[in-house]
Formats: sequence, C-alpha cells, structure tokens
Amino acid sequence: MSIIVTGGAGFIGSNFILDWFDNNSEAIINIDLLTYAGNIKNLEYIKNNKNFFFIKGDINNKKLIKKTFKDYKPRAIINFAAESHVDRSISSPENFIKTNILGVYNLLEISKEYWENLSSDNKNHFKFFHISTDEVYGELQLSKPPFKEENSYAPNSPYSASKASCDHLVKAWNKTYGLPTLISNCSNNFGPYQYPEKLIPLCIVNSLQNKNIPIYGDGKQIRDWLYVKDHCSAIREILDKGTTGETYNIGGNCEKTNIDVVHSICDILDNLKPNLKRNSYRELITYVKDRPGHDKRYAVNSEKILKEIGWIPKENFESGISKTVNWYLENTDWIKELFDKSK
Ligand code: NAD
Repeated sequence: MSIIVTGGAGFIGSNFILDWFDNNSEAIINIDLLTYAGNIKNLEYIKNNKNFFFIKGDINNKKLIKKTFKDYKPRAIINFAAESHVDRSISSPENFIKTNILGVYNLLEISKEYWENLSSDNKNHFKFFHISTDEVYGELQLSKPPFKEENSYAPNSPYSASKASCDHLVKAWNKTYGLPTLISNCSNNFGPYQYPEKLIPLCIVNSLQNKNIPIYGDGKQIRDWLYVKDHCSAIREILDKGTTGETYNIGGNCEKTNIDVVHSICDILDNLKPNLKRNSYRELITYVKDRPGHDKRYAVNSEKILKEIGWIPKENFESGISKTVNWYLENTDWIKELFDKSK
C-alpha cells in the first residue's frame, strides 16, 4: 500500500513525511515542484528509505499525476502543495490561482477517475485529504469565540481566497460525485524547516545575522500557534479515523500576538546565544507599515477533532518555540544553503 503526498518538500509536508516514517513503513510518493519554498534537503534523513519515492512535478501536470496514480495505486492522496505566503499573494496572485485552485481541481479530477475505477473494497478505503488553513474563515473579532467548522468562509487575502476556493471544490467533489474527501483547517504552524519569510523563522534568522526584525503595524495581530509535529500527528489521526466528507479544525489553543511571539524568541536567543553587539535581540525589532488587509485575529476551536478522533497537541508554545529556536541554531548550514540558492 502507498500514499501520494503533494508538496512534501515544503515546511509542513517535509515534517509530515519525516514523522510518517518514524511511525509507519507504508510507502510515500512525494510529488513536489520544488518552488522557492520546496527543498529536497528537508528529506535528507530518509533519502535512502526504500519506501520513499520523489517525483519532481507540478500538481497541474495531468499526464504526470495520472501516471503516478497508475504506477503506484495509492490508497490515499494528501495535498500539501500550495503557494502559502500571504505577502507574495498580494504582490503576485497568479501562482496562487494556478496552484491552489487549478492544481487542486486537477488533483480532484484525476483522483475521481482513479477512485471510480477501483474495486469496491479499495473504493471504500480510498481518501482524498486536502490540507487547508484557518485563514479561510477570515478575520475573527476580538470579542468572538474561535471559529468552528460550521462557520462561513470569509477570506480576505488572495492567499486565503484561493484556499477557500479549493476547499469549496473539494466539498463539491464529495457532495456531487461522492469522492471520499477529508479537509483539515489548521492554525499557524511553527517548527523546523520553515522557509525564513514567515514570522518565526524570519525573526530567528534575522536575529542571528544581527539584522532588523520587521513587525507589521503595531504587532498586535493575534494568531493561534501550533508546533508542526502536532499538526503532522493530527493529519495521521484524521487520515486513519476521520469521517469522509467532513472538515476538522486543528488548533493549538494558544493565541498570541505577533510581538509576544517575537519577544519570546529574542529572550530564548539572549540566553542561548547572546548578541555581542547588543544588550538584547529585542533591540532589532523594527515596526514597519502594515500589510494591506491584514487580519487582526485568527483562532479555531478544536473540540471536534478532540471529541471524534481523540487528538490533542503534545507541545505547548514554550516547549515548541524552544525546540524551534534550537533547531535553527543547530542547522545554520540549512539556512546558508537557502540564501546561496536564492542569490
Ligand atoms: P510551503 O510553502 O512551505 O510548501 C509548499 C510546497 O508545495 C513546496 O514544497 C512547493 O515546492 C510545493 N509546491 C508549490 N506549488 C506546487 C505545484 N504547483 N505543484 C507541486 N508542488 C508545488 O507551505 P507549508 O507552510 O508547508 O504549507 C503546506 C500546506 O499547509 C498549504 O496548503 C498551506 O495552505 C497549509 N497550511 C499552512 C500553515 C502554516 O502555518 N504554514 C497553516 C495551516 C495550513
């Protein structure tokens, strides 16, 4: 048996694959285009695993995706492939439409055709699992409780709108054609192998280079933070025990302002690797013009996954952020290679 994973060389996908082989021996076929955000080095530890297969390719490539289904006969596909950075979606939205909407449409069509032709036993077990985000629900007012699965979608950025669009397509392919789908909407992740354009790795990497740490607006935007390995275990559990046709929120129950997150990182670094040119890394914090349409708050209610599947996160913010900072300190070669590649 095997599973196709798309986008498995990115931040969450690569953590998922590493975590998978710590817990399973079932084969994984990873299809990834290796955009700027994809890095095959993330999977160095398992490159010789005979149950791991890598195919460089685009989720929009019909011929390649069809051939992969035909060759490997997977029991599931998990789609992590996406353009994922809100700032890039504002400056150049086209790739977000191509990958996040058209790419998912392509995966749905090919999966449907494959699933329809399976034997009845295999048909009953097949799953199309789509990884999504809490950003599809839009901005959460400070006075309101965290979003539940029943809340309406109200995305505000080109990124979240593209993710909302593909979530709707996935739901439609389930209702209209009966394709056995699963969707998870997760809050902000942090951990090893995250490309240093998102808040946490950007803060760590800039601090280590004694560069300014840019903070949008007043830094009071609130996000619910989850350590990436907890997201990976939630995905494994949903794949195993989730009810097809359903959506599951995955959150850390850990709301923090951006500035509080940055302060925590500066304090850990002050302890582990004091900045010889400054009293504290906090001196590098620089407030910059806010992102247009910046949502003030996101947070999800994770009661459904707890009640129906029994999943809860293992790490809290303090333990997860400490592991994350340590990982970046121990993997300066990984950071250097990224910068060398982008020159
Ligand atoms: P990422 O940007 O780190 O990785 C995306 C991966 O997809 C990269 O390896 C890239 O090469 C690949 N890719 C991009 N376009 C492709 C295409 N057309 N064909 C094949 N591969 C392609 O993203 P991430 O942070 O790992 O996020 C993974 C998924 O999880 C995304 O769908 C994202 O929306 C969702 N998500 C992310 C977060 C978060 O905090 N990072 C939170 C919730 C949900």
